[in-house]
Amino acid sequence: MKSKIMILMMLLSVCIVLTSGCTDTQDDSDTASDSDKKIVVVSILPQAEFVEKIAGDNVEVVIMVPPGASPHSYEPTPSQLTDLSNAGMYAMVGSGITIEDVLMEKITDLNPDMLVVDCSEGITLIEMVAHSHDEEEHDHEEEGGLDPHIWTSPDNVEIMVENIYQGLVEVDPDNQETYLANKNAYLAELDELDEQIQTTLEGKEGSSFMVYHPAWGYFANHYGITQVAVEIEGKEPSVQDMQDIIDEANEEGIKVIFVQSGFSTVSAEAIASEIDGEAVEVDPLAKDYIDNLAKVAEAFEKGLA
Ligand code: ZN
Repeated sequence: MKSKIMILMMLLSVCIVLTSGCTDTQDDSDTASDSDKKIVVVSILPQAEFVEKIAGDNVEVVIMVPPGASPHSYEPTPSQLTDLSNAGMYAMVGSGITIEDVLMEKITDLNPDMLVVDCSEGITLIEMVAHSHDEEEHDHEEEGGLDPHIWTSPDNVEIMVENIYQGLVEVDPDNQETYLANKNAYLAELDELDEQIQTTLEGKEGSSFMVYHPAWGYFANHYGITQVAVEIEGKEPSVQDMQDIIDEANEEGIKVIFVQSGFSTVSAEAIASEIDGEAVEVDPLAKDYIDNLAKVAEAFEKGLA
């Protein structure tokens, strides 16, 4: 009996030594990786692409709004708040995205030393026009504030990339040369994308496309086309609104309604069948920004009326 207890006690002490040894090693490696790579937090997937294009794998990117979630309603989880408290930099979109309004209140307490970069600095925000009916354009009560979707136009993204670059150099000055070269290469790609989309949409200036969620205001503005939105101030349209939209689509000969995942498509499908057209999915939040936007432009080109 006594020997059994002795063995148990010995085993126990071995366990303690092993466990503490193990914990020590893990702590060391954690500290090492932390000092090697700064955590850069972004709100949406396209921003993760922009940071990675400039910084490569010199930083660790954490995304606040996961794929498929809406930046207008998503709220951060406790583990995301932990990531945020360990981050060296947060690149916010800065144009009035719900999750950022929530986070900004907490950031000063969570991580007062973190660099907060406002990607929208230098970008002129445009009004979110809820109704694009010509006769209602003068009606300011119909407008839904400023449009937060600044990243849907490549000329805005060039400014966002510039802002991200400045921030990265501030938190990681040792890699400035690499970041500058990468940034310039990506800006050249964005210029090329812009030209490619201009070619795709050549001769389409002044025509209209219909979307469920109005994420493409900056894109439309930049390329001289008109976005007609189904959703009004984040809400499903009323029966009367639906009828107005259907009338407008028929008047203009619109046959495609563009939808995005994460948003209800019930009214979109209903409108599509009323106008004898189809609902086509486009993604304003895809990570692969350049390829995606070129594809979106081609889809819009086919749906323009
Ligand atoms: Zn949106």
